[in-house]
Amino acid sequence: MNEISQESFVVFLFISTIVIAICIYINILKQKQNKKLYKVAYIDDITQLGNASYFKEKGIEYLQKPIQNEYIIALDVNKFNAINKIYGYDFCNSLLKELGNRLVKSLPENNITCRMSNDIFASIFNYEDDIKVLLDKIVKSLSNLQINNINIRINLSIGVYKINSEDRDFNECLNKAYMSRSKIKGLYNKNYYIFDKELENELIEEEQIESCMESALKNGEFKVIYQPKIFAENEGIAGAEALVRWYKNGEILSPGKFIPLFEKNKFIIKLDLYVFEQVCKDISEWKEKYNYYPIVSINVSQDHFVNESFIDEYLQITNKYNIDRKTLDLEITESATVAPNIDIVKITNKIKKEGFIISLDDFGTGYSSLGMLQNIPIDVIKVDKIFVDKADLSSNRNIINHIILIAKSLNVQTVIEGVETKQQVEFIKKIKGDIIQGYYYSKPMLKEEFEKYFNEHR
Ligand code: C2E
Ligand code: CA
Ligand code: CA
Repeated sequence: MNEISQESFVVFLFISTIVIAICIYINILKQKQNKKLYKVAYIDDITQLGNASYFKEKGIEYLQKPIQNEYIIALDVNKFNAINKIYGYDFCNSLLKELGNRLVKSLPENNITCRMSNDIFASIFNYEDDIKVLLDKIVKSLSNLQINNINIRINLSIGVYKINSEDRDFNECLNKAYMSRSKIKGLYNKNYYIFDKELENELIEEEQIESCMESALKNGEFKVIYQPKIFAENEGIAGAEALVRWYKNGEILSPGKFIPLFEKNKFIIKLDLYVFEQVCKDISEWKEKYNYYPIVSINVSQDHFVNESFIDEYLQITNKYNIDRKTLDLEITESATVAPNIDIVKITNKIKKEGFIISLDDFGTGYSSLGMLQNIPIDVIKVDKIFVDKADLSSNRNIINHIILIAKSLNVQTVIEGVETKQQVEFIKKIKGDIIQGYYYSKPMLKEEFEKYFNEHR
């Protein structure tokens, strides 16, 4: 009996050891797997820093602690895409790694620094002294790099937000750092912007506008006004541009006050369609009343161009009001022709096929190439006001002159915008620009005034 129980004890011990060993092994495997999963979920491959998810989790933890002198910064490299194109992918990965390293080293020890996406880094840290001194140090340390034996100078944009004890929402804090960054993005003489009262007010104003834009559209607060376009040769009316105004609580807001925000939040898509429909309504009324109506051009934001299906909505409206599309001119900006992710050739061809006129707006500000001009079926080039403003400079006169010559060789009409003086008109007539739009002839006006205007001038 004794022998048997001794034997079974040995067997029991043996089996237990194996079971324990297996358990330990499984545990190690699990830990390894967890580590791997953690890495995938939280660590950025290129820099080995945390990623955006990690940053947000840590940030939320941070806000639970008492707040004294904590900052969030968000930074990125100006023209990073260009650097990527010039030096290549591997070089840029090394650059990002080096940037991350240097950023961590430049900040106080307690910093949490992550790569959020592409070339955007964000950090959160506590700092008691003058933040500007620290920011100068960061700029200095990160601006001159040596990557794979190549010296490279980069330009940073840093947005800074000092967290305050009332802040509860980490995303909002991060967003304020991003907003501060966008305030100086692309400026070469400024590398950082610290969130301040001015930006706070802008934010409040934006929120206020966003909270009422939908109801404003429903209540008819957006009104379309018309600015005549005049033939240079005989001063007859060539058409008009439809421009939007917001009649908000007794105040008339110009597009500059709300269109940039509407482009950011995409409300511009709704507003553009609304303006387009109003124009079609007005035209069908004029057709009925006067058996006449001028060509009207309407601004179409490039935000529509992510796919070509937007055109169907425009077509539906023209069908509803039975408008001949040959008398509707869609103005697209020159910058839309070079925007990434837009197949401008396809879009403009579809617009053209449906019978609309196409104008290239703000020409001279968007860096499109002559090759591009040949590839898209435009009818009209609108020379931007900036050239006319300084038409007393011979270089600008030369530019306008050459744009007109190029347009003529492409069989495209020219509209010169922002013409305010008699001298400018004389000059445009001399160089044979086709159409003039500007305060010299008329400011944009309400529909009723415009009716009178075109009946007197047609
Ligand atoms: P834009 O398309 O280049 O329109 C011409 C702007 O120049 C208009 O300003 C017009 O009032 C102004 N202008 C015309 N002639 C003169 C002049 O002789 N002197 C001066 N100083 N200004 C002149 P507005 O109406 O403030 O529009 C500004 C911009 O807002 C427009 O520039 C256009 O980009 C945008 N916008 C206006 N309405 C709409 C719209 O319905 N949809 C979209 N997407 N954008 C619009
Ligand atoms: Ca325009
Ligand atoms: Ca323009």
